[in-house]
Amino acid sequence: MSRSRKPDWLKMRPPSGERFTDIKQTLRDRNLNTVCEEANCPNLGECWSGRDGPGTATFMLMGDRCSRGCNFCDVETGGMDSLDSDEPQQVADAVAEIGLDYVVLTSVDRDDLPDQGAGHFAETIRAIKERDPSILVECLIPDFQGEPELVRKIIDADPDVIAHNIETVDRLQWPVRDRRAGYEQSLSVLRQVNRESDCYSKTSLMLGVGEYAHEVYQTLTDLRQAGVDVVTFGQYLQPSRSHLEVSEYVHPDAFDTWQRVAEEEFDFLYCASGPMVRSSYRAGELFVESVMREGRTVDEARAEVRADN
Ligand code: SF4
Repeated sequence: MSRSRKPDWLKMRPPSGERFTDIKQTLRDRNLNTVCEEANCPNLGECWSGRDGPGTATFMLMGDRCSRGCNFCDVETGGMDSLDSDEPQQVADAVAEIGLDYVVLTSVDRDDLPDQGAGHFAETIRAIKERDPSILVECLIPDFQGEPELVRKIIDADPDVIAHNIETVDRLQWPVRDRRAGYEQSLSVLRQVNRESDCYSKTSLMLGVGEYAHEVYQTLTDLRQAGVDVVTFGQYLQPSRSHLEVSEYVHPDAFDTWQRVAEEEFDFLYCASGPMVRSSYRAGELFVESVMREGRTVDEARAEVRADN
């Protein structure tokens, strides 16, 4: 489908406001990257301005250049810098300065490093928790080529949520994702997280890249069998003409249907589903906070989060 006009439900407010400017300054002062900026996330304004609370930001670790080149992703490929050994502490300091109580950490893939960056990622989790153990830390991790000892480095750092995105259905892994990624490899990472840790696990799918409903259904089956707790659905948006074309702008009603299917038929703890939902945009943070911090039951937390929206 050529780059036809986006439907109205995909229109977002541009980022603005004092809070937005403050956060941007803190990040620049500490030479930190965020997925929010690197991936031109449409929700940046809302997340950073913290409409209902201290706000959230997704820190992107290990530079702004990735060793892979997924066809849906706007992050630059190749030419990675060496790791900044100050980054873990800089992130912990920035979190304190911004006043976040829920932090999302993610990273580019670093297939070029001996441990693919797993040690650096774990060190950042520990730096945040040492600074303030009450901060909830969600980690959106690479697949580390499915190497269990590298995934274990993240698990042992004891974050509250470990997410790894399967991105799309099995048939479309290529050409949507880099050839080094894969359906079974991503499932093996999610299985390990559920087998070896008691933190929440989470994954995300983009819709609108050519998937069929029965394939999404099969993916939910496989994810549930892997023990995944939280799943999100969002609309794929083409970053540039050189990226994968959008196959379909999925209607919000369809997203609502997938939310109901995920929770009522597959019993996922929580499903955030909507055209503008991204893997770390109001997609479960509130749910996890509600359950972990306020001790709500799953049903109470779902109801509370939905009441907010
Ligand atoms: S692994 Fe793929 S999705 Fe992740 S940052 Fe690299 S190119 Fe983007």
